Amino acid sequence: MIKLASPDIRKEDIRKAVDVLLTGNLIQGENVTLFEQKLTAFTCLPYSIVVSSCTAALHLSLIALGVTKGDSVIVPAFTFPATANVVEVVGAEIILADVDKTTYTMTPESLETAISGNKDKSIKAVIIVHEFGFPAQMKAISEIAKQHDLRLIEDAACALGTVADGHHVGHFSDMACFSFHPRKAITTGEGGAVLTNSQTLAERIKSLRNHGIEGIAKKIEFTAAGLNYRMTDFQAALAIGQLGRFRLELSKRSELANKYIQLLQHEKSLQLPINSDGHSWQSFMVVLNEHTSRQFVIEKLAVNGIETSLGAHAINCLSYYLGKYQFKQDSFNNARLLYERGLVLPIYGKLAVSDIEYISRAVITALGR
Ligand SMILES: *Cc1c(COP(=O)(O)O)cnc(C)c1O
Repeated sequence: MIKLASPDIRKEDIRKAVDVLLTGNLIQGENVTLFEQKLTAFTCLPYSIVVSSCTAALHLSLIALGVTKGDSVIVPAFTFPATANVVEVVGAEIILADVDKTTYTMTPESLETAISGNKDKSIKAVIIVHEFGFPAQMKAISEIAKQHDLRLIEDAACALGTVADGHHVGHFSDMACFSFHPRKAITTGEGGAVLTNSQTLAERIKSLRNHGIEGIAKKIEFTAAGLNYRMTDFQAALAIGQLGRFRLELSKRSELANKYIQLLQHEKSLQLPINSDGHSWQSFMVVLNEHTSRQFVIEKLAVNGIETSLGAHAINCLSYYLGKYQFKQDSFNNARLLYERGLVLPIYGKLAVSDIEYISRAVITALGR
């Protein structure tokens, strides 16, 4: 079976985690600090706070910016539901912006449309998603956010290693949130991180991750109503080796994506993802045309031992959001289309070029029935 995703956890990574377990210092130890330092070095972003998931990272980011009841936050219509859920959890409301059909991300134009169509709302922030590792247009988007006095958060769950407008993601925003779930390119089981340029926000997030504790003049004070969103030290130990090998992982993913594109480019019944500079290829999602049954293709590939999956979700089609916001049937059509016709194929560093050839042949056969 060729799995959809497979983390590159090696014996030496496991040994590091076991060493931590043997010491008995299980939380917030030297491996958490080392992982944070290595994330800072890798991304060139000065502050890094690791947490228990990307959802926790997004939640803390909204709390740190003071987003609350009465506020609205713009989120892309096509994403993993966590992007929208955190907004609801802090009591704010979502405003959806449709995504581009070819890049799967929010564009400067769709952001402008969402802002100008909701002038009656108190819009506080935007959460931009680098869907599947594709770099959103951060420079233009950050300029729009500035113009309208909106805070900018990047949901970079899929985007460790993604470079947008010449900088690692996180450069143009207030905060970027990363995931280390097993479906992402580096994993700690569950895990996440907030990276930021702002010392003030970094300190706030650090305190909020740990019950609102601050060390003031060698005394511990509870200065905010915080949460416990810490990462354990043995989880961080698992990630350090993976991050050390991550440049190689990224170039391998890029090579495999190029191979898919070369082999599938003449298939008229599917649209390929755009091969942009700076793409980190967390997932490789194709879009099937309206004459092709996605279920048929998924089943054909499964028979050939190939695991596939649907892409992200259209928030406007999810029962909670549909019920609360009563979205019109013909709104956010690109998100709906990607939700209904997207198909994610396996991509990760442990696959060989010959695996991609095998998968591509199976896809072509399934399409040509
Ligand atoms: C995976 C993912 C998340 C959630 O990450 P967790 O670490 O599982 O909380 C959020 N947003 C996007 C875009 C994702 O792909």
